[in-house]
Amino acid sequence: MKTLVATLLLALLAGCATPPSGPQYDRSYTAKGQASRARFLVLHYTVGDRASSLTTLTQQEVSAHYLVTDDPVPHIYNLVDEKNAAWHAGNSSWKNFTQLNNSSIGIEIVNPGWKDTPGGRVYTPFAQSQIDALIPLVRDIVTRHHIAPENVLGHSDIAPLRKQDPGPMFPWRQLAAAGLVAWPDANRVAALTPIFQLQLPDVAWYQKKLAAWGYGLVQSGNLDEQTRTVLSAFQMKYRPTNIDGLPDLETAVLLEALTNPRGALPQPFPAPAPHYQYQPVQSQYQPAQPQPQYQPVQPQAPATQPQPAPAAPPLPTTPPAAAPGSPTAVPATPPVPVQQ
Ligand SMILES: [Zn+2]
Repeated sequence: MKTLVATLLLALLAGCATPPSGPQYDRSYTAKGQASRARFLVLHYTVGDRASSLTTLTQQEVSAHYLVTDDPVPHIYNLVDEKNAAWHAGNSSWKNFTQLNNSSIGIEIVNPGWKDTPGGRVYTPFAQSQIDALIPLVRDIVTRHHIAPENVLGHSDIAPLRKQDPGPMFPWRQLAAAGLVAWPDANRVAALTPIFQLQLPDVAWYQKKLAAWGYGLVQSGNLDEQTRTVLSAFQMKYRPTNIDGLPDLETAVLLEALTNPRGALPQPFPAPAPHYQYQPVQSQYQPAQPQPQYQPVQPQAPATQPQPAPAAPPLPTTPPAAAPGSPTAVPATPPVPVQQ
């Protein structure tokens, strides 16, 4: 009897309950095959102070998941849920990915950026307290989303023709020392340097290596403006003492060490060869052919033997620490920034 009453009571209650609306989902199973949509972590500076940065990132059509302030004890705002895309990357590419808002987490760091002076472009250093606050944040994000060190990037990496941030004063080396950013191995750099001293590669080699590392650039074979700008972006990250965007020994060695980090060392590059016109190859199974009409073009000057290059410059070093609040001058970069 008791059971009957209880059953009737339950039926009555069920009848009174509001019927569920919309589709009902059964979450009793979870798929094994899934991953975070965040593959990249992108760092920026805000070009503004704390107040203006917060206003811009919350009131305008630009945003980031996190904002690290420049307070004496930096404050970390979480402005966008990591499950959502923030609007921080804009037109961008890295490796085979484009429009990186969809596949990245963005962190903005309060910093005024740069200004041009008669002595060159001046970038503002980051307070060490900001970096000390940033490193645990980066570590937390890359750990939870399984973001690889080579995918921890600057805005200047993914949009080098538009953006310079976080700029050459950003201490990437500190993040590398914390294991958060891919960095050229010092022993590999030392082993590669004498090989590249014999002969530097041509511009096409730099373009190929920059693209292999992830940069988006046209393989023109020429030292054009886009190539210099991308070279400068690479130098800002890995060799910030000279960001002139010109190919040089150290830049070549760093590129090779990153893109070919272990295994056999490359052969020295041949000296530039004189150009020969095409000669058809004779097949031994064919009757003798007339002499090819094309003869080698005599080189204008005798080929030169590779000459030892001057002593290698020192390995990349961290730019001298600047006193807080005292901007440090670095060479001007070719690109002109545009608004995000
Ligand atoms: Zn940016």
